[in-house]
Amino acid sequence: MPTNYNDLRDALKQGFERGACSSLTFRRAQLVALVAMLEDHKDEAVAALASDMGRPAAEAGGEVAVSIREAKDAASSLERWSAPEPKPVHLMMQPSHAAVRRSPYGACLIIGPYNYPLMLCLEPLIGAIAAGNATLLKPSELTPATAAFLEKRIPAYLTAEACRVVTGGVEVSQALLATQWDFIYFTGSPRVGRIVAKAAAEHLTPTALELGGKAPAVVLSSADVGEAARRIVNAKALNVGQTCIAPDYVLVDRSQHTALVAALTAEMRAMFGDEPHASPDLGRMCTVGHFDRMAKLLAESGGTQRRVGSAPPDREGKYMPLTLIDSPPSGSPLLREEIFGPLLPVVTFDSFDEAVETIRGIDSTPLALYVFTADTAAAESLLQRVQSGTAVVNDCVLQHMCHSLPFGGVGTSGHGVCHGEWSFQTFTFPRSVLWRHAKFDVDQTVPVPARHAAASGG
Ligand code: NAD
Repeated sequence: MPTNYNDLRDALKQGFERGACSSLTFRRAQLVALVAMLEDHKDEAVAALASDMGRPAAEAGGEVAVSIREAKDAASSLERWSAPEPKPVHLMMQPSHAAVRRSPYGACLIIGPYNYPLMLCLEPLIGAIAAGNATLLKPSELTPATAAFLEKRIPAYLTAEACRVVTGGVEVSQALLATQWDFIYFTGSPRVGRIVAKAAAEHLTPTALELGGKAPAVVLSSADVGEAARRIVNAKALNVGQTCIAPDYVLVDRSQHTALVAALTAEMRAMFGDEPHASPDLGRMCTVGHFDRMAKLLAESGGTQRRVGSAPPDREGKYMPLTLIDSPPSGSPLLREEIFGPLLPVVTFDSFDEAVETIRGIDSTPLALYVFTADTAAAESLLQRVQSGTAVVNDCVLQHMCHSLPFGGVGTSGHGVCHGEWSFQTFTFPRSVLWRHAKFDVDQTVPVPARHAAASGG
């Protein structure tokens, strides 16, 4: 294992400085090649995701499809996104023109997480390529089949100037972080996000940190409880809760508590049958270690557990049942750490203010906020009083599928956004270019003090 990655970074940087990644033709060709890679080897990618995560075929296929759509969208929108944005120029500076150009950073590092190991490596890579950067991609070591797929297939389709792939675990990640990059895009936990931010600070490297947190699903008194339950269970079951924007816990108005718990249980049965462990639509924990963390959380949770089916948690099969934990005590670890699995605590509140205070006490800047209500003013009020990177009224998780919206966190859930043009923006900086006429200017006749006053904004 190399102890440093300076040579690799230098090779990427030299290619970037030669202008190898800059033309629109090159960028478009790389994006089209990425689409071809995914279309040619879709089955292989789906098999890798199934082997790494036990993902149902529809979920795994969705990850590939989203990446293809994102790459196609970038390839066809590139010219528009890259067009300089003209800006007005003060009379004293005439004749000249001013524009903002979206400029690439240079050699970028992308570090991926395990939970959507293909899509969350390729989405930022697409933004980086579209922007004209040279990229080193490090997928998660916890999903080795997907990492191997990327390591094998990317060099066969993309040029080494556009992207190189390095696989490995924490040591590799740390060695990469010790290297000086022009931009770092990290997706993962807030704990490792802090490590990345410290390493980046050493070189004053800008970052995008796509982190996690505890996303509340708030069910207000006016909500349609049956519909809320269906949408919450659907979102929580996706990748068995290993989704950064999964509803982490439910906060329900006490008047709706009994009805909601009954509806959530009924929905678990309706979606996955009487014996959910036999359902082909329910995934598994990624590793035994992740299963063990869930088992420990469950053992220490307090509250009343409710689940469907007779199968107990199965360590060997990494099967953790979807489990409601009704009214855990306020000190429960379920209400402190990000769950990132199929456990769903349900907590009641008696007033709107109490709901706001509870959210702020658990995680004041979650990646997502969900509110179920028929009362528009109440929804607006919650949006105003609770910060979050993203929010959905009357559903969960759909914001990630709405590609016109930026996707990212705030505070401890991170900073920087992805999706379509937003990814392009993240992988570029606004470069101001003022272009004066080589010979003529109107201020030749203006006395020096007046020129200087104008230059300093006077
Ligand atoms: P993680 O932070 O454990 O690992 C992410 C990456 O960091 C991996 O590639 C890993 O090799 C590397 N890494 C791990 N420990 C490291 C260390 N000590 N030093 C340097 N690098 C290290 O995250 P994970 O478990 O793969 O993913 C789950 C987390 O990611 C959850 O918190 C989830 O909410 C978050 N997440 C956020 C988003 C988002 O878009 N905001 C998306 C997916 C996941």
